[in-house]
Order: sequence, then C-alpha cells, then structure tokens
Amino acid sequence: MKSIAEIAAQLQGYDPQALSAAAVNDFLARLVEPVQETENVALFDALDRVLAHDLVSPISVPPHDNSAMDGYAFDGSQLKPDAELSLAVVGTALAGKAWQGRVGPGQCLKIMTGAIMPAGLNTVVPQELTRSAADGRIAIPPGLLRPGDNRRLKGEDLQAGTPALRRGERLSPAACGLVASLGIATVAVMRRLRVAYFSTGDEILSAGDAPREGAVYDSNRHTTFGLLRRLGCEVIDVGIVRDDPARLEDAFRDAAARADAIITSGGVSVGEADYTKAMMKKLGDVAFWKIAMRPGRPMAVGRIGPAILFGLPGNPVAVMVTFLAFVRPALLRMMGCTADPLPLLKARSQEPIRKKAGRTEYQRGRVTTAADGSLHVRTTGNQGSGVLSSMVQANGLLVLHHQQGNVAVGDEVDVMMFEGVI
Ligand code: AMP
Ligand code: MG
Repeated sequence: MKSIAEIAAQLQGYDPQALSAAAVNDFLARLVEPVQETENVALFDALDRVLAHDLVSPISVPPHDNSAMDGYAFDGSQLKPDAELSLAVVGTALAGKAWQGRVGPGQCLKIMTGAIMPAGLNTVVPQELTRSAADGRIAIPPGLLRPGDNRRLKGEDLQAGTPALRRGERLSPAACGLVASLGIATVAVMRRLRVAYFSTGDEILSAGDAPREGAVYDSNRHTTFGLLRRLGCEVIDVGIVRDDPARLEDAFRDAAARADAIITSGGVSVGEADYTKAMMKKLGDVAFWKIAMRPGRPMAVGRIGPAILFGLPGNPVAVMVTFLAFVRPALLRMMGCTADPLPLLKARSQEPIRKKAGRTEYQRGRVTTAADGSLHVRTTGNQGSGVLSSMVQANGLLVLHHQQGNVAVGDEVDVMMFEGVI
C-alpha cells in the first residue's frame, strides 16, 4: 500500500495545483486495489457482478456436430460441380436425440436444426434448396453447396478445458447466458464494494425538510446513490454533515470503519470554512488537488483508515462529472473489474463551442442520429456547474480534451455516453 507521497513521486510532472484529467486517473489507478474477498452466487444474481476466477469450460459448446438448418444431412464429398445429386431419404433426425442408424452413399437423412449430425455426414442442404423426386428421394441442384455447409462443429463456441470467461469480467447479459450454456448454475464473484457517502455544508437540507432562507436541498446524495447503485455497489448513506469538527470526525470515522470507499461532496474548494479539509488531513493521508478541468476543479483524494477517500466538490454537476471521469473507473478497479473503459463515441458538433486549451472540459450534450445515419451532438443549454436540468437533458458528456481548442460546427468531438450500450 503506497502513500500519497510515494505515488506522487512516481508520476512525472505531478503538480497538485494543476493536475490534468489523465494524471488524475493515472494517480487513482496506483492508489486503489481490488477487493480480495469472493462469494458464490446463483447465476440469476450474478448480473453485473465481477467474476472472481477464470471460468474453465467443463464441456464443449455445442457438445456435438449439429445441423444449422432444417434440411437433409449427407456426405458432402458426393457433391459434383456440374451434376444434380439425387439422394434417398432413409430417416429423420430430431433435435434432442441421436438418430440410430447408418446413412450410406447415395443416402441422406432428414434433419432438424440442432439435431446431432450422425457420424460420416458433414453437410446439410436446407429444405428449400431441394426438389422432391419420386420414391422418397430428393435432388440437390449443382453449384449451391460446398462440403461442410450448414453444419455447426462441436466446440465451435467453447472448447472443453479452455477458459470461457476471464476473471475480472463484469457479467453482462451475454456473459450470464454463456455461463448458463456451460450448465453452470453458481459462479464465484468478487464481493460487492461498500461505498459510504455524505454531503457537507451548513446550507444543505434534505429533501422533505422545510425550506430555509439561504439553504439548498441536497441533490448530491441522490445522484451519488444512483451512480453507485448502477455500478452494483452496496451503499451506506451517512447523511448530511454540518461544518462542525466533531460531527465531521464522527462521520469520517464511521464511514471508514464500514466502507471500502468514502465519497464526500462539498468543503474542498478554496475559501471554504476549512473544517472538512482539516478533518481529512487530520484523519488520513490525503492530497488536495486543483484539476485542470471544468466543471469540478477542486478534489481531495487519499485514504482514511483502510478506506479510499474521494472528496468531491459541492456543485451538483461537478459531482457527477468527477464521478464519471475519475471515481467510476477507480471503483471498477476496486471491484476487481479488468474491462477497458467504455470507448468514447465520435459525434459531429451542431454548434460552435468555445474551449480553452490547457484543461479538459466536460459539456453536457445530447447525441442523436441524423437522417444520414451519422451521429450529431448538441449541448443541452446552461453549462453552469450547479445546473442539473441540463444534465438531465443530456445523454452523454462531450469530452473536450486537455490540448483541444475551440470546436467549429461540424467538427467531430468525443462523447462519453452515460450508460453502456447494453
Ligand atoms: P462547496 O464545494 O462546498 O463550496 O459547494 C459549492 C456549491 O455547491 C455551493 O453553492 C453549495 O451550496 C453547493 N452544494 C454543496 N453541496 C451540495 C449538495 N449536497 N447538494 C446541492 N448543492 C450543494
Ligand atoms: Mg460547502
């Protein structure tokens, strides 16, 4: 376990007063470690969980050569380039049971999709390509088939004894289906990550409280809750903590004792009543950053006890942006997930956007499909760091990179979609 100072020393040009977004992710990847504990869960409970071990296939899928079509199975070496092939139908093979019998030269077997290919047969002619001839024979016109057509090979999906899925895979619907196709009903997954969160500030009210002059309702606990739930984390809501050292200390100690990670919002910007920062400093090993980004410049990161601390700024959109850009990838790593980050989409901006080189800007935008099928993107109005309504209208964040300058109409920009595609 490396200290903040040790990690900082490993990074070239580390400047906590002007950290690039890339450097933040680099730092966090060195700070956090995957959880170790695993548990066995039933396959229906495994969706979105992270696989704890390589899953070696106990069987081949499919388990036999089988037909990909409803048609007639035969030995394809009899096909001739220029002459029709006439075959006698000697029986019918249905899916689910092996056909007992022999199919010799000049013969074929009526076969259904998924039925086992009897030994010696390697080709299936789809029903609709055949002509029925007299006395129970079929005729196959020349030039339509090659030997091996319409046959699925044993093990073409998965070979017995080879890894079907690797540890660190987050189990998607397709992956759950694949596990089921192996006949496996229980999988070992990493235990869920426990994440505690709280909001700080004397001006913050909970939804449902009576309004008070100068106060604002707490949206951050709700956005954070939603983002964490989508990741499949176990959440611990510590509530709203006033700018009061004793209460802050209790909240941090409580969270650190119960959670793998603590997410706070507010209290890390310059000019704050300094209680939050002072308490982080007192209880943990914490770096205070100014990140070259917008929105969301200030952020505190480190460890309090065994827990990783993400001290996010207070503004509601800054919370969501810093979560998506930095916290989410770090939490996925802690969950044991080894997947690459989601690829950014490229979409053509339908408007000019002013952008200063030297910082990463995340603009709320909506990607749509244009009439010609290409992707277009527009920003969704007021980009103030406290304006959640433009976040609600957005389906992604335009990522205007560190060195990038102004965007002209029609320029391609990168977009981080809020959700995976499936
Ligand atoms: P701070 O980072 O604490 O200076 O807060 C920056 C701005 O975000 C201030 O306008 C706060 O009132 C606002 N803010 C802080 N925490 C929250 C919260 N939990 N929900 C909504 N707004 C907040
Ligand atoms: Mg505050």
